[in-house]
Amino acid sequence: MQVEEILGRVARDLEHLKQFTATPGEGCTRLPFTKEARQAVDFLGGLMREAGMEVVEDAAGNIIGTLKGTNPELPCVMMGSHYDSVINGGDYDGIAGVICAIEVARLLKETGAPMKRNFVAVGFCDEEGMRFGTGYFGSGAMLGNRDPDYCRKFKDTDGISIYDAMKEHGLDPEKIQDAAWKKGSIGYFLEAHIEQGPVLDAENIEIGLVDCIVGIQRYMVTVHGRSDHAGTTPMDMRMDATDAASKVISKIADWAREKADGTVATVGYVKTTPGGMNIVAEKVEFTVDIRSKNNDNINDIARRIRAALDRETAAMGGSYEMDTKLVITPVNLSEEMLKIMEESCKAHAYSYKYLPSGAGHDSLEIGQVIPTVMVFVPSKDGRSHCPVEFTKYSDLSKAALIMTELAQNLLNRD
Ligand SMILES: [Zn+2]
Repeated sequence: MQVEEILGRVARDLEHLKQFTATPGEGCTRLPFTKEARQAVDFLGGLMREAGMEVVEDAAGNIIGTLKGTNPELPCVMMGSHYDSVINGGDYDGIAGVICAIEVARLLKETGAPMKRNFVAVGFCDEEGMRFGTGYFGSGAMLGNRDPDYCRKFKDTDGISIYDAMKEHGLDPEKIQDAAWKKGSIGYFLEAHIEQGPVLDAENIEIGLVDCIVGIQRYMVTVHGRSDHAGTTPMDMRMDATDAASKVISKIADWAREKADGTVATVGYVKTTPGGMNIVAEKVEFTVDIRSKNNDNINDIARRIRAALDRETAAMGGSYEMDTKLVITPVNLSEEMLKIMEESCKAHAYSYKYLPSGAGHDSLEIGQVIPTVMVFVPSKDGRSHCPVEFTKYSDLSKAALIMTELAQNLLNRD
C-alpha cells in the first residue's frame, strides 16, 4: 500500500469533518453532546461501516467499529482517539487519530492478511473536559470508571449536567456502566495523535514514538496575610501576603530546571487581594502545575513548595492552604510495541524520535491498565488548541502505515 493512496482518504475525511464546528471560520468547536458531536459521530460511524466494520455507539457516546478476527474471543487490539475539541480549537487534535484508526482498519481489510483478534477502532467522547471541567469521559467509561452520580455531579456553564446533556443527545445516563468493557477483553491500545508541541516540526522528524506520558500534579495555593496602609505600616510590622508568596513562586521554575530531565513547573495564575496599588495584600492565590515522567521529581517539587510556604508564612506571621486539584502518575508506554514501530520506521526510511508526551490523552487513562502505545505526528510550529493548528496529511499517512504493521503483528498473537 502506497502512502499516496492512504493520504487521499485521510485528507478527504478530515476535510469533511472540518464542517462539524459550532464556530465556522474560527476553528473547531465540537463540544460533547452537541449537534456538531452528533454530526461527527454519524459521519465516523458511516466511514467505519464502509470499511467493513460492525458499528455501535455505546452508552457513553463513544463510536466503536469492529473488524472481526477469526478468533474474536481473544482480547482485541483497539485503536482510537477523541472526536471532541476545545473551544476555537484545531481540526486535527484527537480527530486525526480517529481517522488514522479507521484508515488502519481499511488497510487491514484491503491486505486481506489473516487476523485472529478483533481490530476495534474508537472515536472517544469528551476527552478534553472543556464543557464540564472534567476529561477522559468516554475512555474512563470504557474502563468502568464512570457512573450516573458522576454524570449528575458535573455541569457546564449553563448549569446543564452531563446527565441532562446525555439525555438531550439520545443517550441514557442510567446505562453509562454498560459502556464498560469486561476486564481482559482489550489486549492492546494504540493511539495516533498530533504532537501539540514544537519538537518534531523543529527537528524535521516525521514520526514521534511516545515512550511515556508525563504525570501531573496541580495545586491552588492561598497565602493569607493582612491588608494595611502601604505608606504608614513599617516593613517589620506588616503581614504582606505578596512578599511571602513571591518568595516561594520565584523558586518553583528553578526547582524544575534543576531536575534537568524535562520536568516542568508552571505558576500560570496569580491573584492578589484586594489588589490595590497602595494596600498591603491580605491574600495571594496562585496555581502550580508540575509535570514529569519521573513521579519522584513531581513529589519533590511539591514537598519543597510546602516547606517554603511553611517557612515564608511563618516569617510573615500569616498562614496558607495548598489544595490538591489533580494527581496523575506518569504512564510508561509499551517498550515492546515501540520497538516494533521503530523497525517499521527504519524499513520505510521514516525519520523518528523517542519523546515523552507532556499533555494528557485517552492513552493516559487507558495506559494505567492496558498495554498502550502512542505515535505523534508533527504539529506545524507546535501550535495546537487554536485555529491555526496544522498537521500534514502525508505525516499522518505514514503513522497509519506503521501502526497497521504493528496491528498486524498484534492481531495474530494467541
Ligand atoms: Zn487531543
